[in-house]
Amino acid sequence: MLGLMQDWPLLIHRVIDHAAIQHGGREIVSRSVEGPIRRTTYAKARHQALRIAQRLSREGIRAGDRIATMAWNTDRHFQLWYGITGIGAVCHTLNPRLFEDQIAWIVAHAEDRLLFADLTFIPLLERLQDRLPSIERFVVMTDAAHMPQTTLRGAIDLESWLDGADGDMRWASFDENTAAGLCYTSGTTGSPKGVLYSHRSNVLHAMAALQPDSLGFSARDSVLPVVPLFHANSWSIAYSAPMAGAKLVMPGARLDGASIHQLLEEEQVSITAAVPTVWLGLLNHLDATKGALTSLKRVVIGGSACPRAMIEAFERRFGVEVLHAWGMTETSPLGTVCSIKPAYAGLEGDALLDIKARQGHAPFTVEMKITDDEGRPLPWDGHTFGRLMVRGPAVAASYMRGDGGDILDDEGFFDTGDVATIDEHGYMAITDRSKDVIKSGGEWISSIELENLAMGHPDVHEAAVIGIAHPKWDERPLLVIVPKPGRSPTKEDMLAFMTGKIAKWWLPDAVALVEAIPHTATGKIQKTALREMFQDYHFKT
Ligand code: AMP
Repeated sequence: MLGLMQDWPLLIHRVIDHAAIQHGGREIVSRSVEGPIRRTTYAKARHQALRIAQRLSREGIRAGDRIATMAWNTDRHFQLWYGITGIGAVCHTLNPRLFEDQIAWIVAHAEDRLLFADLTFIPLLERLQDRLPSIERFVVMTDAAHMPQTTLRGAIDLESWLDGADGDMRWASFDENTAAGLCYTSGTTGSPKGVLYSHRSNVLHAMAALQPDSLGFSARDSVLPVVPLFHANSWSIAYSAPMAGAKLVMPGARLDGASIHQLLEEEQVSITAAVPTVWLGLLNHLDATKGALTSLKRVVIGGSACPRAMIEAFERRFGVEVLHAWGMTETSPLGTVCSIKPAYAGLEGDALLDIKARQGHAPFTVEMKITDDEGRPLPWDGHTFGRLMVRGPAVAASYMRGDGGDILDDEGFFDTGDVATIDEHGYMAITDRSKDVIKSGGEWISSIELENLAMGHPDVHEAAVIGIAHPKWDERPLLVIVPKPGRSPTKEDMLAFMTGKIAKWWLPDAVALVEAIPHTATGKIQKTALREMFQDYHFKT
């Protein structure tokens, strides 16, 4: 027997409709790429998105066509997302920080037809356009007054392109499993792979993100997603903020500590989200200027492991709650968030920090397990490490064009490539990427744990740990440090600081000081490049 309830497909444009009807006057504030702060509302943004949908249809864009964006977080980018998906086309967010070869490869693989780009990226695209034959024309996300001379094919500014589109248009109607968004993994191994989100997966993912123990936005919040729209759906925020009716504050191209601090204060932001490197920039800025955070209540930190010292700085010095989160492009991306369950509610001080440094527990819609190399489930005891596997309605079932083949196990779980423990209360802690764990004498050492610990030393700006071949132990850890200006911590300083906080045999065998640690396009430490830097390194015997 079937239920007798309405068939109401979970389509993304229902989110902007809801925001416009229920929270129509709520603001979207953007630092525009041209410079000044721009203000609009959800009601006006919906109208703009409808104009975009209308104009795309006139351009001959049809359901299923891929439309690329290379853009910062602004109101214009937000409106494009809704306009593109509102006619059943697919919004393909390009990460401008990828290598040029990868961008050309990805656009060809996706067969993008139009490319909407911010002013910032014109030089890059002019260089690259001959290698982007599928792109019929480039639309520059500015107005006629700011439009520069450009050789880009068919180039036109967004506002002129929209001339004559009055927004008198209805959203298309289609199956909720229709593709909505496309985002390629950064491709640290092999070619990038396309993750193709559906309307249904994005809506469910945003609803899961709104659970109180997840991101938990309300209509009273002011939310600043520093995490880019091109980095795995900006962790749902372009959908979950309008769903909740929260004010949305978009940082544009300026992600440095001073610019973010200015927006946090001027727009009275209550919740913000980004990768740890962004927060290093903000904390350094606050140190240098003796600045304060007067409105911020919560900061969501994920994308790579959040160092304990960072949680301590936000919570103890600034009274801002840290929510450590884990996820990946393939999981839309939110997989776990570290909010406190009753089992840990009585903890204080360092014991509580220990829990908050974990990646957290899964919301409804995400199921996890850890397994050994043969796929056998491992216990949730907080100690045993295994391969982290996940499944749920917003987890990828396969990649674009079937690349990579069958990616699920017999029970429908996806192998994240991460190694993790899970404790008896369901708290997951990432120990490493499976390729980055250091294998010493048949046992595993977590590079992430060593990095987090080293980051707590007052002379350390950034730290990374890699395994170096060792004649007796197979591999041993090398600690690579970018010191704070004017400091040069020695191996003895670091070992003295780390001793007693980890098993003795985990202590690094050597410490190397460098000027910079390489990062990937999504702000993670690029272990492959770091390993190349140290490929000829030998421990002194
Ligand atoms: P991406 O798809 O580029 O977002 O990368 C996903 C990967 O980033 C995950 O598989 C993890 O290895 C890593 N990652 C994300 N969040 C965290 C976190 N909080 N702690 C440690 N690693 C993380």
